Amino acid sequence: MREIEKIEALRRWRKSLPADCTVALVPTMGHFHRGHLSLMQRARGENDLLVVSIFVNPIQFDDERDYHRYPRDQRRDLELARQEGVDVVFAPDNSDLYPEGYCSYVQVEGMTDCLCGASRPGHFRGVTTVVSKLFNVVRPGRAYFGKKDYQQYLVIQRMTRDLSFDTEVVGCPTVREADGLAMSSRNQHLSAGQRESALALYRALKRGRAMVEEGSRDPEEIEIAMRQVVGEHTEVEIDYLQARDAGDLSRPKRLRRCVLLAGAIYVSSTRLIDNIVVQVGEPQEGV
Ligand code: AMP
Repeated sequence: MREIEKIEALRRWRKSLPADCTVALVPTMGHFHRGHLSLMQRARGENDLLVVSIFVNPIQFDDERDYHRYPRDQRRDLELARQEGVDVVFAPDNSDLYPEGYCSYVQVEGMTDCLCGASRPGHFRGVTTVVSKLFNVVRPGRAYFGKKDYQQYLVIQRMTRDLSFDTEVVGCPTVREADGLAMSSRNQHLSAGQRESALALYRALKRGRAMVEEGSRDPEEIEIAMRQVVGEHTEVEIDYLQARDAGDLSRPKRLRRCVLLAGAIYVSSTRLIDNIVVQVGEPQEGV
């Protein structure tokens, strides 16, 4: 496994490959858990070579404290990547990706205004900018993203289409702990009691799913019920809990086709997100 830190070195490696070699990219912020590893395993099985990037991207954090306390453990990550058969770990530093005078950004409009985009201004602009840069440097045939970050997956898919990147965006299922808690690097900030409270989010989403499956199509009614579930837990503050169209993130009066139930909560100062997609009509492309 190669460890590459510089864009120029990564470009040289990329140019040395035969044209018919398929290269996959799994972009991450490191501190690997089984969610990250599942993306690597899928990518490993579908491509000749696998690049995993590790970069805690400062421009996607709307809160500087959150950036500084984001967990990092590169040595452990490198070991896990090696075990997964990763070919290249690309771990650039800030000054290589954002040299002095940096002033160019990529922005997907519309679908970034709601959900996490509404509560984290500038977050998706930071994500789409760094992912564009990674696509330009790695030139992957396929890039793998977790549906745990469902809005991010849709936004990247749209960006890739709109900007004609020659990359297929592959969405992978959310990996959960045995009790249902979605795996996240941020879970490590939780005490045992907070971890229990964090489960309220998944419980609420499951309540929403049950309602959709029983025929409810009114987003407001579903949101009220989901909020009630979280409201039973004292340590939890709701950022948002919403029912939307899973194809374009719109919020119709009556839900149809494919429904996204998505939520973000704070457990003390730790922000956690999760979602469930429920199919209620004909399957949609790209969902
Ligand atoms: P992050 O390091 O949090 O930026 O995540 C890197 C990639 O892993 C993103 O595409 C995430 O959506 C994905 N990911 C994070 N957590 C999970 C999970 N529990 N299940 C599946 N994918 C995940």
